[in-house]
Amino acid sequence: MALININLKSGTVDKERDIVVGIDLGTTNSLVAYIKDGQPVCVADTTGKNTLVPSVLHFDTVHTEGGIVVGDVAKEKLVTDPQNTIYSVKRLMGKSYKDVSGFENYFGYTIIDAPDEETLVKIRVRDTFYTPVELSSFILKELKTRIETTLGQPITKAVITVPAYFNDSQRQATRDAGKLAGLDVLRIVNEPTAAALAYGLDRNTEGGETIAVFDLGGGTFDISILQIQDGIFEVLSTHGDTFLGGDDFDRVLIDFWLKQQNIPNDLIFNDKEFGQTIRLAAEKAKKALSTEGVFETHVRGYNLTITREEFDILITLLVERTIESCKKALADAKLKTSDIQSVVMVGGSTRVPLVKKRVAEFFGKPVFDNINPDEVVALGAAIQADVLAGNQRDVLLIDITPLSLGIETVGGLMDVIIPRNSKIPTKAARQYTTSVDGQKNLKVAVYQGERDLVAHNRKLGEFVLRGIPPMPAGLPKIDIAFYLDADGILRVKAKELRSNVEQEVKMKSSYGLSDEEMAMMLIDSIQNAESDMRARALLEARNEANNVVLAAEKFIVQNTAILSDEEMALTKELTEKLRQTVAGDSKDAINAAMEELNTYTTPLAHRALDANIAEAMKGKPINAE
Ligand code: ADP
Ligand code: MG
Repeated sequence: MALININLKSGTVDKERDIVVGIDLGTTNSLVAYIKDGQPVCVADTTGKNTLVPSVLHFDTVHTEGGIVVGDVAKEKLVTDPQNTIYSVKRLMGKSYKDVSGFENYFGYTIIDAPDEETLVKIRVRDTFYTPVELSSFILKELKTRIETTLGQPITKAVITVPAYFNDSQRQATRDAGKLAGLDVLRIVNEPTAAALAYGLDRNTEGGETIAVFDLGGGTFDISILQIQDGIFEVLSTHGDTFLGGDDFDRVLIDFWLKQQNIPNDLIFNDKEFGQTIRLAAEKAKKALSTEGVFETHVRGYNLTITREEFDILITLLVERTIESCKKALADAKLKTSDIQSVVMVGGSTRVPLVKKRVAEFFGKPVFDNINPDEVVALGAAIQADVLAGNQRDVLLIDITPLSLGIETVGGLMDVIIPRNSKIPTKAARQYTTSVDGQKNLKVAVYQGERDLVAHNRKLGEFVLRGIPPMPAGLPKIDIAFYLDADGILRVKAKELRSNVEQEVKMKSSYGLSDEEMAMMLIDSIQNAESDMRARALLEARNEANNVVLAAEKFIVQNTAILSDEEMALTKELTEKLRQTVAGDSKDAINAAMEELNTYTTPLAHRALDANIAEAMKGKPINAE
């Protein structure tokens, strides 16, 4: 049922504005938010209190869709029915078996063996295989139902957040999950960007602002350094630890209690119920200590206690690891702590006082923490969603592409089509031609990176434009267009303009760049700029020389009648000499040989041209004045 707004003054029915919702699809918890009376709010469960939906799914023995539960109820099954309870699906999004090998033990459920290691992962529940996209779609459906129940109207449009370091295929997987859940995903937004939006940091940035977003969740830690200028968010660097979060705080606390009470370590594995009880007690204690000085509880007759001071000592090393990541992110962005104007706290685990204290100490300024850190990403997503729904006309949101995109040209050179830092969405095109007579196919290999040689960049994919009608080299006009959408997904179209033969592909790279890799690529390109320039100059000289050699050979064949034996012999000799320098790696030698050949053949070419013209005009009438 849709809401209809009747304007009582004019008596007209206002066309209902679409509600676009913001979704934080988290590793541990997910949330949905929307704009209510001009303010973003997260939607709560029926109790009206709990806005978090644990990102956990449980599959009942009845294997119908009705047998799948998501959220708090599923979380309780983690211990009683681990084989059929799925958590941390986000870690598997867009990943192949190769990507997760070595981490299988982390997952309590079955990740099936790979037919080949390039294939994307699947999860087995009894005799059904699920993709991470399908599993995520169940979580999204739960969120969709939650907001539809609250608002009493269907919801079909959403903005979903992802970590800043998510690559194309992880973003595409997230988008697909939305589609499967019946949601039209208008935009994929970076989580740190959403958090900054929730704090309105895009609005008070006269002259731009550099911010740090510190996100410590249940099992993952991310630090992102963002530059905000004129509504444009640029990720300068990201760093983090994919296996560090609040769960680790719980773990060190459990160990502490086991020692405190002389409880054998393996009891928590052998006695699952005890394990679960003490785990829940640890999380409860941790949360309590975020506001209280001491916590006490009884589990199976054991009196478990912990003070804030003791807890702080237990987690000190874990917290220091997050600070080390902050240092690395700053170094990658070539910034000092004093360059950071605002520090935003995100994720449930940033409620821990020691975390806040250390982060504020490290950056040398108070942190932004007055918005609920569990909700801040979803709230920011709701703001972005509202902008896309057309309700906030004064806000402009633009993202940029962090690395250049281009194609391989002759000699393995990178030819950039969309330069790094371009605002997205964007499109750009360049024209190319063939290098061989009668060439029917053209390979288009797409790369991402800043280096001059494609070999040093990252390949996104390749395809072949087939069926170009045979034409002399250089005649076909091949237009290669790149369309980069707002989510950073690239579509490449190649079209031969004379014959209209065309081919289009979407680049879905199966393996993404980690934050470190991305930073490394940028650092590499700067450090190697000089040698790259030399390499590029050499390759360009070689390409040019090859063309000159071909032209000289053609010239000799076509002009046997005009050239003397001596001229012919010398032209051949100089051509051969040039060919030999091409095989070497001296740009100067190539250029010198090219120059020598050109100087010698230029007068010959003029003579040949004159002779050809004279030949062509023989017997043709020339109009007298
Ligand atoms: P994610 O982004 O990975 O989905 P969240 O941001 O929801 O995760 O963070 C979940 C983590 O935050 C859990 O480890 C939870 O125990 C922890 N957490 C939640 N509230 C508190 C609190 N008051 N004090 C300390 N930790 C908390
Ligand atoms: Mg999160």
